[in-house]
Amino acid sequence: MKTLMAIAMAVVVLFPACLRADPPKPALEVVVLGSGGPRAFGRAGSSYVVLVGGRPRILVDAGPGAFLRIGELHLDLDKVDTVLLTHLHIDHSGDLAAFFNARALTSDGPIAYRIFGPDGAGPFPKTSQFVNLLVGEGGAFAYQKTFGAPESFTVRDLAIGLDSARTKIVDEDGLVVEEIATHHGDCPSVAYRISYKGVVVVFSGDMDVSALPNLVQLAKNADLLIFNCAVLDPPDSPSQLYALHTPPRKIGEAARASGVKGLLLSHLAPDVEGQEAAVRKSIRASYAGPVVFASDKLHVPVGK
Ligand SMILES: [Zn+2]
Repeated sequence: MKTLMAIAMAVVVLFPACLRADPPKPALEVVVLGSGGPRAFGRAGSSYVVLVGGRPRILVDAGPGAFLRIGELHLDLDKVDTVLLTHLHIDHSGDLAAFFNARALTSDGPIAYRIFGPDGAGPFPKTSQFVNLLVGEGGAFAYQKTFGAPESFTVRDLAIGLDSARTKIVDEDGLVVEEIATHHGDCPSVAYRISYKGVVVVFSGDMDVSALPNLVQLAKNADLLIFNCAVLDPPDSPSQLYALHTPPRKIGEAARASGVKGLLLSHLAPDVEGQEAAVRKSIRASYAGPVVFASDKLHVPVGK
């Protein structure tokens, strides 16, 4: 009997995995590659990978440092073929070519990307032109299209007027991605809503308060709203930043109005990072749900 017990214990110790069923994969998970903004202070620029049914599938923004974090996390990029760009500031797009590079060097076959991002205005190219300037014919990194794996790019430029309708841009095998125009000073910008198996995550991107009605509509009842928090409540940040970003008090109001179940604050600036308690208090004035501050490499299962 003692021998049998010893054998049983040895099996448990040596092969614990065989005794437990694999837990079901969450419908959606978010891995924060970069939780910072344009300032170099230790956080990578804005970037996330969304796992769908346990597999990395979607890249949301590609700020500087995303490439490094992908390597540190040993992320499997093999099924990441959808890229959602909220806008084309460098802190959200500077590592896009480096991402193509990383993805191609771990691929066995051709890669067909579909890329979404805002239309152009002023000094900002439309997203299709941006991708062409990087990897198109005559582009800075034209060699990348055949480097490691043959790549093709289908790019869709999204409407940027605040009165543009919310639009469904992906609908396949239960995965739905929707977008709506936002406003970020003079830089065209959009927000994204990703849904799968009844679970929803929304990415605000960078936006000022003029876009809050659109964001509230897009984020309705989402399980997680990832809101970029780059300023303190007025007047504690430089005044010109309020034409670009939404302060914490307004973020709290938007979270409440949209009925989101959780809030992840990201795109953190040094002064916001140093005032976590004040930011939390401002948000708490309206919103009672969980509030988490992002950090690079944070892994967040969404919803149930
Ligand atoms: Zn930014």
